[in-house]
This record gives sequence, C-alpha cells and structure tokens, in this order.
Amino acid sequence: TVRRAADPQPLITTTDLPPARHFIDGHFIDGKPLDGSTERVIDVVDPSTESVIARIPEGTPEDVDRAVAAAVAAKDRWARRVPKDRSEVLHAIADRLTEHTELLVKLESANTGKPLAVSRDDVAMTIDTFRFMAGALRATTSMAAGDYAEDHLSVILREPLGVIGVITPWNYPLLMAAWKIAPVLAAGNTLVIKPSEQTPLTTLKFAELVADLLPPGVVNVVTGYGPTVGARLAAHPDVDMIALTGSVSSGRAVARAAADTLKRVHLELGGKAPVVIFPDADLTAAASSLRTAGFWNSGQECGAACRVLVHESIAERFVEQLVGEVRSLVVGEPASGDDVEVGPMVSKAHFDRVTGYLERARNEGVRAATGGVALDGPGYFVAPTVLVDVPEGAEVAREEIFGPVISVETFTDEEEAVRRANDVPLGLSASVWTESARRSHDIAARLDFGTVWVNSHLVLAGEVPWGGFKGSGYGRDLSIYALDDYSRTKHVMHNHGR
Ligand code: NAD
Repeated sequence: TVRRAADPQPLITTTDLPPARHFIDGHFIDGKPLDGSTERVIDVVDPSTESVIARIPEGTPEDVDRAVAAAVAAKDRWARRVPKDRSEVLHAIADRLTEHTELLVKLESANTGKPLAVSRDDVAMTIDTFRFMAGALRATTSMAAGDYAEDHLSVILREPLGVIGVITPWNYPLLMAAWKIAPVLAAGNTLVIKPSEQTPLTTLKFAELVADLLPPGVVNVVTGYGPTVGARLAAHPDVDMIALTGSVSSGRAVARAAADTLKRVHLELGGKAPVVIFPDADLTAAASSLRTAGFWNSGQECGAACRVLVHESIAERFVEQLVGEVRSLVVGEPASGDDVEVGPMVSKAHFDRVTGYLERARNEGVRAATGGVALDGPGYFVAPTVLVDVPEGAEVAREEIFGPVISVETFTDEEEAVRRANDVPLGLSASVWTESARRSHDIAARLDFGTVWVNSHLVLAGEVPWGGFKGSGYGRDLSIYALDDYSRTKHVMHNHGR
C-alpha cells in the first residue's frame, strides 16, 4: 500500500517556486531570469499526485546561444580571480544553500517524489561538495617544476578550460548539478547548465539563490529538452567542454555532437551494480545494507545494489532475509511524513518502463519473492521487489531497470561469480561480500567497475572519485579528480641562460 499525506496540503506552494516561473517564462541567464525566445512551455509534474506544479520554458538553440554568450563574456573576469577569492565564493554558496535547506528539500521532493530523507541527504551532500571544492582549489597549486632542459626553467600552470556545458538527469537534480557546478567554478570556469526537463526546479532555485554571490554570466540555466537544448550545448563552438550525467544513449548523442568541435567530453552514465555474496559473508549485514542500497531514491540510482549474485549454498537463506528486510520498507508520498523510504517513480513514462520490465520478467518465468507489481495511484508507485529464479542473461539482470527492484542469481565458484558480474556493458559500481581478505582483494581487483565496495554498498564521500568504466562513461565526479577534469595543464619554459 501507499501511505498518503493526511493533510492534502502539497509539499510546496507557488511562493516556494523560483519567482516568475510558476507559470511560464524565465531561464536564468546573465544573472537574472530571462524569458524564453518562444511561448512554448513544459509542464513540471509532482509524481506523487500527478498534478502540474510549475511550467518552464521549452528552450531553443537561440536561448542556448544567449546563455553561452553570457558565459563567454564572464569567463575572463572569473578566471582571473585568485584561488582565495573563488574559494570564498564557493563557501558563501554553501552558506546560502544551508540557510535554504528546508526549501530545497521540499522542492526536490515535490518535483521528483523523493522521500524527504533522500532529499535531505542530497542537499547535505550538495553543500559538502561546495565546501570540499572551496578547500581543494586552494590546495591544488601550480608548480614551478625546475630546470629539465639546460638553462630552462619549466613552470606548470593549471588553467580553467573556459565555458563548460552541463547536462543533468532527473534522479538527483540538485546533487548532480552540484557535482558539476562546484568543481567547474572551483577550477575557474563559467557554465551553462541544462537540467532535466522533468526536474528543473531546484536548479533554477539554486541559480536564483546564489545570483548575488557570483558575477553575472558565471552560472546560466537554460531549460528544455535534450535533443534541442542539450544538443546545441554539446555542439556549440564556444563551449569548451560538455559534461553529462544521464543515460548511455544520451551519452552517445552528446559525444557525437561534441565531436566536430573536439571539445572535451565528461560522461557519467548508467550502472547495473552487481552485489557478489560469498558463503563466508555476514548475511544479516548484507541483507540490511541492501534494504538501503537497493531502494535508496526508490531504486532510481545509478549505483543501486540491483543485481545480487549469491553463492548457491546460501541463496535460500539470504533471499529469506532480504525479503524480510524489503517487506519492511515504508512506501508513500514524501508529504506523508519523514519516515517514508520509497516514493513513486519520477514520471508516467518511467513507471511504464519499470513495470514493463516486471511484466516481461514474469512472462519469462522469473518469480517475484516479494512485490513485482504496481501500487494503486494516484502517483507512479511500484512495490519494492525481489526477483528470484533469474536465469543467466535475463533482461532484468543485464539492463538498468532504475526502479525498486533487486534481481537474485546464484553462482557456484569465484570464477563464475567474477565472469557473470563483469558480463554487463556497464561498469559503474559493484560490491563484494566476504570475510576473507584474500578473496576481497582478489575479487575487487578483477571487477571491471569504477567503484568496488567490500562489505558495504553505496557509501560515497567528497574526497573520493565517482565514475565508471565501459558503457558507464569516462571522467570523474567528486574529489580532486573532478577538479583536474575541468582544468587544463600548460607548460611555460623560460630560457635563463647567460
Ligand atoms: P537521460 O539521458 O534521459 O537524460 C539526462 C539528461 O540528458 C537530460 O537533461 C536530458 O534532457 C538530456 N539529453 C537527452 N538526450 C540528449 C541529447 N540527445 N543531447 C543532449 N542532451 C540530452 O537520463 P535520465 O533518464 O534523466 O537519468 C537517468 C540516467 O542517468 C540513468 O541511466 C542513470 O544511470 C544515469 N545516472 C548516472 C549517474 C552517474 O553518476 N553515473 C548519476 C545519476 C544518473
């Protein structure tokens, strides 16, 4: 069942929305809201209630051109700021977001259907990302590297790239924006961001909240669809790099659009994380951890623990424990209370996609040990699900479902576990569960994933990089690696011979 809000008040009211943007107009360009170049709008829907909560402009390539021009005009001024000044601005942004935490939490939950606890975690990590980058940018000094050719002093400089195009997904609208915006600004670049057309509200609110802290044109927002606004950003000759978090197919489209200008491309794409459980693992800890890691953000999470590979000797016992955990999850509208753990799917289209996977799995003989069905509306709710009897190569074990669904397969030995864990086109994250140090080191080394957790899953921190291998893309978010990704390296050589 779905827990409904007792009080029919929505999570947000129109006064919480970015000004002049409740209905129609306004991208955010050159430090202020700006009307779209056409009258066309996109409805923004609360997926818990299916009601329209805002309308945003359907941006055009001309809107992108205006935003890029503003970012180009602002770039020298921002790049010339010394690290200490840029750092102070990033800290001021973190302070401003802290002051408005509750508003951002409610806006994010209303727009995405996220449980409030998830939105709180998102906003906290958003703030921490700005604080980390504010500190990190001061520690990443350029180097006077010394004489490497006779009588020639080499100086290695870290420079901004210029204008960065950023395209973000609907699952973590504010957090994914922060994972790009913070290092992009820290490295001295300006930017144009296109949020997901489904979830633009916190990005627009962010731009409005920090507008007085930044020179106009440093952060610009253009709302609209990927194939028009996103594609123009990726192809624009004055955009020096394009960074996308999104699906594999959007990643391909962006890389293609970027090819003509040979701009740098940074791609954080999908995931299908295997969870490899050996007989010597602490099964209680694993089941309890998967309760969170499989269903965080209602399973709409690229690192979700969605594909269990468990040793056949313990499979039955583990599934029983896991099902017990999953049945205890509280499903509901975010507005119904702080203890809601699983919300709706973000949209009708995504709900149809997730339930389509469940239906095809059922037709192929895959059994749901719990869940496996949609829940009554309004709202796009799917029951937390554990699928068992999943054969090797099944669609649900290979493709990213992006919903509250864990599939369980069994294996007989280490070789088979590694082979099957790696046998997916995506390589974002994975986990290994064992008490053996030899085994955990060995398996972690052989797994083809950008992050491997041992006896844990989905724990992130600002100091450590996040990003994938294979179809999950390239480039890293978070950490000093992200700061490097948005910088370029210049060598200046001085002849000081007499
Ligand atoms: P999506 O690819 O549909 O959309 C992402 C963004 O790309 C949106 O802003 C969209 O408008 C834009 N876009 C779509 N087509 C485009 C095109 N042709 N050119 C330019 N831009 C285009 O993804 P989504 O459904 O919003 O998000 C879910 C996906 O994001 C999942 O695959 C998930 O795994 C991935 N994701 C990855 C990470 C990570 O860190 N690796 C984090 C979050 C989400």
